[in-house]
Amino acid sequence: MAMTASHPQPTPTALPGPPTDELLHVVQFSGGIGSWATAMRIKAEYGTDRLVLLAADTKAEDPDLWRFVGDAAAHLGVTPVIVADGRTPWQVFADQRFIGNSRIAPCSRILKQKPCRDWLTANADPATTILYVGIDWSEQLRTPGIERGWKPWAVRFPMCEPPDLTKAQMLDWARAEGIEPPRAYANGFAHNNCFGACVRAGQQQWRHLLQVAPERFAAAEAEEEHLRDELGDVAILRERRNGVSRPLPLRELRRRATANAAPEHGPSAAAANRSA
Ligand code: SF4
Repeated sequence: MAMTASHPQPTPTALPGPPTDELLHVVQFSGGIGSWATAMRIKAEYGTDRLVLLAADTKAEDPDLWRFVGDAAAHLGVTPVIVADGRTPWQVFADQRFIGNSRIAPCSRILKQKPCRDWLTANADPATTILYVGIDWSEQLRTPGIERGWKPWAVRFPMCEPPDLTKAQMLDWARAEGIEPPRAYANGFAHNNCFGACVRAGQQQWRHLLQVAPERFAAAEAEEEHLRDELGDVAILRERRNGVSRPLPLRELRRRATANAAPEHGPSAAAANRSA
C-alpha cells in the first residue's frame, strides 16, 4: 500500500487496457522459490482461472526441480506449460563455439528466453497479457532490463512489491502450504537452476558444487575441457592475477581446491551430462 496524508491507497499498477477478468497472467516459473511466491501472490490477486505457469526446460535441471514444479502446480490447481529448445547448455556452447560466463550466457537466451517468447507469441496477446518474473526486492536493479527484454509484453515483479519477504520466509511459506521446497536451497545453493552448475555462478558456487556434488562438477569440467580442446584458452570463470584477467578452467579450480586432498575427483561423469 502507498500511503497518502489521509488515505491508504493501493499502489497503482500499470495494467493494459482490458478489464482484469480478460487478462492472462503468465508467471515465468523457473522452479525457484521466488517464482513460486510470485504465483501465489497472483493467485491471491486474480485467482487461477487465467493463470499460466510457464517453465523452460534446459535439459540440465535437478530432477527435484520438476518435482517442485509438479507439486506447486498441483497445489495451485493448474497444469504447467513446459517449453524446451531440446539442447543442454553445453550443447548450446558447442553449437555457438562459445562457453557461457557470468556476463554472456547464450544458454539463457536460447534455452529459456527464446522458447518462452515463442510460446508467448503463439498464445499470449501482449494487449491482454501480463508477464510476472519472480525476482525479489533484493534484485530490484534488474527490473528495467527485464522489462525492456520482454517488450511488447508488460512485466510485473510481485516479489519486489511489499511486504518484502526474504528467501527464508518464502521457503517457510511453501512448507506452511504443505509443499516441500526445492532441495537446492537446503544443499547450499542460492538459486535452483541447472543443478548448481550455472555458468553465471562465481568461483564460490563452483567450489561449493565441487564439495557437495563432485560428480556434477566433474561433468562440467569434462565438458569445458572438451570445448577448450576445440576453442583454445577459454573458460567459464576468469581470475585476475598481477593485474591481468585470464581464464580459470574448472580443472585448475579443482586442482587448487583439492591440492592437499586425495583422491581427486576426475572428469569421469562427463558423458552422462552431455545427453542430460
Ligand atoms: S541457469 Fe545458468 S547455465 Fe542454466 S541456462 Fe541459465 S545461465 Fe545458462
